[in-house]
Amino acid sequence: MPWPLSPELLAPLAPWFEQAHRDLPWRAADLQLPHPDPYAVLVSELMLQQTQVTTVIPYFNRWLERFPDAATLAAADEDTVHKAWEGLGYYRRARFLQAAAASVAAEGWPGDLAGLAGLPGLGPYTAAAVGAIAFQWPTPALDGNAFRVLARLLLIEGDPKHQAAKLRDWLSPALKAHGPSRLTQALMELGATVCTPAPTCGDCPLGGRCAARLAGRTADIPPVAKRAKPKASTLWLVAFEAQGQFLLQAPVAKGLLAGLWRWPTFDALDHEAAPTPGSITTWPGWTQVYTHRREAVTPLHIGLAAPFTPAEGLRWVPRSELQGLPLGRRDQRLRDLLDAPGQSLLEAPDPAGLVRACAAPSA
Ligand code: SF4
Repeated sequence: MPWPLSPELLAPLAPWFEQAHRDLPWRAADLQLPHPDPYAVLVSELMLQQTQVTTVIPYFNRWLERFPDAATLAAADEDTVHKAWEGLGYYRRARFLQAAAASVAAEGWPGDLAGLAGLPGLGPYTAAAVGAIAFQWPTPALDGNAFRVLARLLLIEGDPKHQAAKLRDWLSPALKAHGPSRLTQALMELGATVCTPAPTCGDCPLGGRCAARLAGRTADIPPVAKRAKPKASTLWLVAFEAQGQFLLQAPVAKGLLAGLWRWPTFDALDHEAAPTPGSITTWPGWTQVYTHRREAVTPLHIGLAAPFTPAEGLRWVPRSELQGLPLGRRDQRLRDLLDAPGQSLLEAPDPAGLVRACAAPSA
């Protein structure tokens, strides 16, 4: 069956959004005009990649206070930027955001979608979302929420992402008819609050026209993608302390963990627990969940009489500097535990073996 025309099908979304939308700090008051601060839209869209709205709000507010415009962010030092991002995860986004800000500060905003998509960290979705919300361009932004809503409305069988190009062409006239910023945000809002994986169709402004609802197929459209089972590991996460200094892995320049300081970790399979004399402190462990792996973490503090010469990449950092370093979520947790009373551990990996693994090879 041919799809109904998008301007008619999606017409109820605009008035629904006027009364149902959440007040979010990056939303413009007037959705007819270009956004008064495209940089705020860019920041919000990068933060919202992979992170929930409620988590993003306080980060967004603090970020805008600290880096109120692209030039300020471009000029900030990297550690300060990572520190401000600390806790949001997927730290590459912070580096991309700073690089995108540097480009905007130097050359101004791009004039079209291809230019936006050429900024660091902006894939096709984010570029289209910034184009529509910041500049009122009729650039259809299809994220997971939008794909789910449209798949149900149009009764698309299989993975709707396979029809991305056709869906963009279909959606574009509705953006022009109802306002790119308003309709883009309305579609996102519907997917986030009503047309969720378990939709509340009774609250939906499109309920009377939704093909999946009329066919009783909202549970199986779109099909749920099967995820690979996360890889499991069991780790000792270790804070070595010697004469008021802690041993940390210095940040690497590239990859997922670029810009972050890390505690040394040891795979429990490589370091079996054995009786230890009592200089080791621990706290309750936890499971750290990432997209593709799960870590069963046991935090340890190992007090040493004196620092040793560390292997390449490791550094001794004074306790007074610990709070100022950007750490990932798992490693922040151990930093916070260091101020809490722990328990003495009677069985732990042999500290001498762990020290050897972190020490520079002797000459
Ligand atoms: S009627 Fe239900 S399934 Fe259809 S768009 Fe609305 S919330 Fe989604």
